[in-house]
Amino acid sequence: MPRPIQAFVHTDALRHNLARMRAAAPDARVWAVVKANAYGHGIERVFEGLRGADGFALLDLDEAQRLRSLGWRGPVLLLEGVFESRDLELCSRLDLWHTVHCDEQIDMLSRHKTQVPHRIFLKMNSGMNRLGFTPTRFRSAWTRLNQLPQVDEISLITHFSDADGPKGIAEQIATFTKTTEDLPGERSTCNSAGLLRHAGDTAVAADWVRPGIALYGSAPDFPERNIAQWDLQPTMSLRSRIIATQDLQAGDTVGYGSSFKADAPMRLGVVACGYADGYPRHCPTGTPVLVDGVRTRTLGRVSMDMIAVDLTPCVETGHEAGFGSEVTLWGKASNGTVLPIDDVAQAAGTVGYELMCAVSNRVGFTQD
Ligand SMILES: *Cc1c(COP(=O)(O)O)cnc(C)c1O
Repeated sequence: MPRPIQAFVHTDALRHNLARMRAAAPDARVWAVVKANAYGHGIERVFEGLRGADGFALLDLDEAQRLRSLGWRGPVLLLEGVFESRDLELCSRLDLWHTVHCDEQIDMLSRHKTQVPHRIFLKMNSGMNRLGFTPTRFRSAWTRLNQLPQVDEISLITHFSDADGPKGIAEQIATFTKTTEDLPGERSTCNSAGLLRHAGDTAVAADWVRPGIALYGSAPDFPERNIAQWDLQPTMSLRSRIIATQDLQAGDTVGYGSSFKADAPMRLGVVACGYADGYPRHCPTGTPVLVDGVRTRTLGRVSMDMIAVDLTPCVETGHEAGFGSEVTLWGKASNGTVLPIDDVAQAAGTVGYELMCAVSNRVGFTQD
């Protein structure tokens, strides 16, 4: 029998979260962002739950190909555009829309032989300083693209650096709006945080929104708000089982480095989950975890294949947790109790994005 650790991908929760994104911007079309193999969930496993989107946005050509193999005939957008000339052939063949963010990509397009002109999303660097043309260069890039026979419609896109925080998006929106004022074409600006926190702002109203993380049941602005407050549901549950128990006396320590020491007699469970499964090694004693749906904490250091959990809260509820008990590392327990991935990420000093993307290959996935 394989180790009892498994990740569950919840189709209903994906559908629910997508509906929430639509409700947040009812007049916009929705790109479901499925980069990084659908934030670690697996493109094939999220497809059913997200096929109600208007398009899929990603950055890996192999993933775009997989979407087409699933039978998706609607829009697919490459968020970073092409990396080399021959990628354009795949764009032509698979009808992929692509971002153009630098002169080199325009050069490649100008040399590309295609029967059908390409749909382009021209990217502005409005302050993020990652990809895109600065406002002073944006219009000349647009003009150059617009003259190419290889180019069909040009849409305008930018990305926010601070949609989740106090700085907000006002400056970037002002820059984007001013620079693009009299240019034709559809607009796309918002990621999840922009959409949830700023979609009511009329300046933000755009033709396409691009939610990623919120679709996967993580709050983009945690801990300011959590998924319950945004009415989002976890789409990935990482579950395992207790494979051993130990009864500790006061003074006993747990795991490598003896970093946890019991100050009274207590019972612990050993869980078949470690950092080789993608559970963060940085999680300290006290990281939340569910045992048979009861919230408790980890004890001591995370090792490669195991972690220890405190069974005291289970004992207190009168429930005999022990060998074989279900452990939910994040997501939803079988009894419906939710442990948001954001709570675990915070304990590890990171964000939900990183945890869901890092579940390792040795974890079996099940769609439910
Ligand atoms: C990843 C990404 C998104 C989605 O961001 P979330 O924070 O996950 O909602 C949107 N747009 C671009 C360009 C991205 O790279």
